[in-house]
Amino acid sequence: MGGDTSLGSQPLFSAEGGMQSFGDGLHMLQLFANICVVETAEGVVLFDAGLPIDGSRIVKELRAVSELPVRYIVYGHGHADHAFGTRAVLEDAEERGHPRPVILAHADLPRRFDRYRRMLPYHEHINRIQFAIPEGIPAFPWDYIYPDETFRDETSFRLGGLTFELRHARGETDDHVWMWIPERETACVSDFWVWSCPNVGNPFKVQRYALEWAQALEEVAAKSPRLMLPGHGAPMVGNGAVEEACLTVARALRHLDEQVVKMLNAGKWQEEILASFAWPQEFARSPYLAPIYGHPYFVVQALLRQYHGWYDGNPSHLFPAGSGEIAAEVLELAGGAARVLERARGLEEEGRIQLALHLVDFALAAGAEPRSEALEAKARLLERLAAEESSFIARNIFLAGVRQVRRELEPREG
Ligand SMILES: [Zn+2]
Repeated sequence: MGGDTSLGSQPLFSAEGGMQSFGDGLHMLQLFANICVVETAEGVVLFDAGLPIDGSRIVKELRAVSELPVRYIVYGHGHADHAFGTRAVLEDAEERGHPRPVILAHADLPRRFDRYRRMLPYHEHINRIQFAIPEGIPAFPWDYIYPDETFRDETSFRLGGLTFELRHARGETDDHVWMWIPERETACVSDFWVWSCPNVGNPFKVQRYALEWAQALEEVAAKSPRLMLPGHGAPMVGNGAVEEACLTVARALRHLDEQVVKMLNAGKWQEEILASFAWPQEFARSPYLAPIYGHPYFVVQALLRQYHGWYDGNPSHLFPAGSGEIAAEVLELAGGAARVLERARGLEEEGRIQLALHLVDFALAAGAEPRSEALEAKARLLERLAAEESSFIARNIFLAGVRQVRRELEPREG
């Protein structure tokens, strides 16, 4: 992304923000993810609860701005960075002799927690790659505090003269919630807004929902918020800015959705759709849609998965031979691994990195010698892709690949 996009180029997931106050009892604690703090005369409402490691920091920062009991904790959604700092807040309430806060969430959130607990090692594995978390540090929460009350489409409660309207829409998750405080004209939107192309189609994760995400952003815009507090990154102050931002991203998501639907209706298959979808300059230049975390290509992948099965249109691929078997045949016809690697080197010099990578993969899949040469080439090519990649997720996938190849290259201990 270009250097002229002052908003989108702010560091994503910056913890620099700390606690920011906007008057009228509204605060936002900007850590890896944001925690919204709303003070009322009768107590505090927290919207989102951060990572497990954020708990003590949340309590410390909260107690610097308010001594009042936390009455409600709303989970914006059930992701690891939004619903897991809760334990410290509950302990703080107990120590102070406050009533236990009521935890509110969407009705699908408990099922998400059940799934996470059932598949903890898997989520450890994929999140370690996605976020480049070093070995030895837990990569996924293990302490699950389920909501006390859940709702399906919408609900609301009153506290200290303020109304808290909770609305569900599927977006980054199926259990996503945003909160509107009419008296403060403030929207707390969790990951419906993250200062990046929306992370629909995360390569590791279950289905996410582009069209419903767009609808949710349109509903937020229709409120003309004076203040929008996002799931990550800086807050956005209104006067038309929030509407423009939300409607731009909604338009981009609808644009991708419409293209995928149109091409599927025209009988096209995924390879062609992924190679030919349009991403107009309006979106490519938008500071709200920079592919620094999510990526339009990933959005299209998600739409294909949502509307279509996994068959790619080529019957040869329905029950394919193993990639090693295919590669061995191709390598023999090509005159051996050395020739294929030489051609890969030529492509690399021409800057055709992705194509070079596929040739190197033929040599590796066939188990051909010299294997170390092919591994060195693969590490080098992935490093080049990583260096040019703007998406945090894509970059971390390339770099995890480099580490894996380097491990294989290390001399084995005897
Ligand atoms: Zn998040």
